[in-house]
Amino acid sequence: MTGDVRINRYLISDLCDELETYLTQHQVSEVYRAYLFSADAHAGQTRLSGEPYIYHPIAVAHILAQMHMDHKCLMAAILHDVIEDTGTGKAQLNQVFDQEIADLVDGVSKLTHLTFASKAEAQAENFQKMMLAMTQDIRVILIKLADRLHNMRTLGVMRPAKARRIARETIDIYIPIANRLGINNVRHELEELAMQAHWPWRHAILQKAVMKCSGNRPELVSNITEMITRRIQQEDLPGAVDGRKKRVYSTYRKMVVKRSRLIDLADVFAFRIIVDTVDACYRMLGAMHNLYRPMPGKFKDYIAIPKANGYQSLHTILFGPQGVPIELQIRTRDMHRVAEQGIAAHWHYKDEPGGSVTSDAAAEWLRNLLEVQKSSGDSMEFLEHVKIDLFPDEVYVFTPRGKIIVLPRGATIIDFAYAVHSDVGNQCVAARLDRQLAPLRTRLNNGQTLEILTKDDAKPNPAWLNFAITGKARATIRAYLKRLERQEAAELGRRLLGRELQEMGVSLDAISKAELQVMVSELGHADCDELLQQIGLGNRAARLVARLLVVPEKQDEETGLDSSQGSLVIKGSERMVVNFAKCCGPIPGDPIVSIFNPGRGMVVHHQSCPNLGDFRRQGKDWLDVQWADDVQGEFHTTIRIDVNNQRGMLATVAALIAEAGSNIEDVRSEERDGLSSSLRFTLVVKDRKHLATLFRWIRAIPNVLKVARLIG
Ligand code: MN
Repeated sequence: MTGDVRINRYLISDLCDELETYLTQHQVSEVYRAYLFSADAHAGQTRLSGEPYIYHPIAVAHILAQMHMDHKCLMAAILHDVIEDTGTGKAQLNQVFDQEIADLVDGVSKLTHLTFASKAEAQAENFQKMMLAMTQDIRVILIKLADRLHNMRTLGVMRPAKARRIARETIDIYIPIANRLGINNVRHELEELAMQAHWPWRHAILQKAVMKCSGNRPELVSNITEMITRRIQQEDLPGAVDGRKKRVYSTYRKMVVKRSRLIDLADVFAFRIIVDTVDACYRMLGAMHNLYRPMPGKFKDYIAIPKANGYQSLHTILFGPQGVPIELQIRTRDMHRVAEQGIAAHWHYKDEPGGSVTSDAAAEWLRNLLEVQKSSGDSMEFLEHVKIDLFPDEVYVFTPRGKIIVLPRGATIIDFAYAVHSDVGNQCVAARLDRQLAPLRTRLNNGQTLEILTKDDAKPNPAWLNFAITGKARATIRAYLKRLERQEAAELGRRLLGRELQEMGVSLDAISKAELQVMVSELGHADCDELLQQIGLGNRAARLVARLLVVPEKQDEETGLDSSQGSLVIKGSERMVVNFAKCCGPIPGDPIVSIFNPGRGMVVHHQSCPNLGDFRRQGKDWLDVQWADDVQGEFHTTIRIDVNNQRGMLATVAALIAEAGSNIEDVRSEERDGLSSSLRFTLVVKDRKHLATLFRWIRAIPNVLKVARLIG
């Protein structure tokens, strides 16, 4: 306990030591002058813990000193409670110090008067005042955040009910603000402290679980660290790696918001690499993707597209040793500072005194708020806008008629469609996002207007499950697909059976219902549909059923195995029961054959797939197939591109592939001989024509040596 108290007890000498590392002698002495004034004003006052009151403002100033805030801000921090708690007036501060400091202290005092009990309607006015204070000088908010942080650190002396209320307020108001301004080191600490106070049991249990998981395999952590460090040295890129601690609060949020299981969250290894330059970030990413296989679709480039609060970094997930997922962040030292301190990180770059808002993204945000504030006289309306910005877990999107649909952050157009109505989701074919056609996988942003285009005969696509995130959308799609799978299997079964019968000179229509019914019960199926489904899924051979159906005298002779007459036509829309082999990635236009995989349906292969030999030896069931003229859908295929080793080659090629209208599902690169590398892309294309266009484009890129398709 005594240890805790000592941590909270900051002496002015400690503060000055810290200030001397970045402020001038004169500036430090000004801060000291503010201390003398404040100590005098607070003389005789004590905190709830019994210690002298002045410890609190010093501690608040210390938090801001760690962010390297300017000396005026620190002076105001030391004086932040004098108007409120000691009868000192604003005019007096203006006289003893200056207008700037008087305004800052006055701003903080006004905020202190506001009680933010909840997001409730009654608080709208207070929100508005707070926002206004921010737009005038954001240092007011930084001082308020530091004040709150120190109060949270010393929450232990409060009555539990009061501590809980303050924790709730911190969660509702201060954490979102810290997040929006990107001040993550403060935010993380507030989160842990608030969770401890508000949900002490949950925090204790989760903390134990998280500690247990991360402590489980220390040798694996050091092993990965060593591998990464060695690779960094090999690449001759100056950089430092460190493991990141799992935070209890963020683990808890993921469990609540994303419904993730603790086991999935805790057993992830998180590392961060800090390098010198932006260029080195991308080179380091390449080196790491080379060291461990990247998880497809998990790479995020927040350097090219920073988050709204200015955060920049590369994020990727790798398959580590024994398949453990490794979350990796790569960024420069400067980006790291912004990641930790957000808007405050920009302060010490500015020389001129009293420079207020600096970070571009935050400045932009504040400007927008001010505009909303001006244009809406109504506090509730203003609050709605502010909530949108302060509560980033939700996205607010409009229907064409102006109705607001609230979705979790990360929701896509598909989620919106299902939120409107199940039928709208099931029959969704396209969407206009702010009047522009947009792919269904597009993530939604606040304030967008979305119109869903439907077609009566449209049906859900299994691929939607890759990007639908709401429970409603996922459950409805799954239920529909299950039904669809049965229908499609029956339809395919009918086509297969019809084709076999035709070869025997009999038409399926010529077989009477009664005959069919006899066969159905003989084979132990409930009805005809079920029999056809079993044929479609490959659990029953169509040929055998056909033979059983055709009475022996009708059957002239054994019909040979090859079936030149009718090969089955693949339309591309039978995705539930027709799969496309990953090994050879057949695309429309390729010569194809198909093989039955009992229970799962057909798998279509390229005719030159090297695996076909194995299947032949295993005596698998073959089927001749051909593409329909109007084949639909998207198809995966893998290509290899040999390039000269040049910086940015991967990015250039990837950008061009995207421009050609193809999606990249996976990328790998390997160095061949120091001069050249091979890039291996798994792409989504429409057909051979699409691929040929893509090849032509890629060949035109300077330093591309060779482009080839990989089959098998
Ligand atoms: Mn205070």
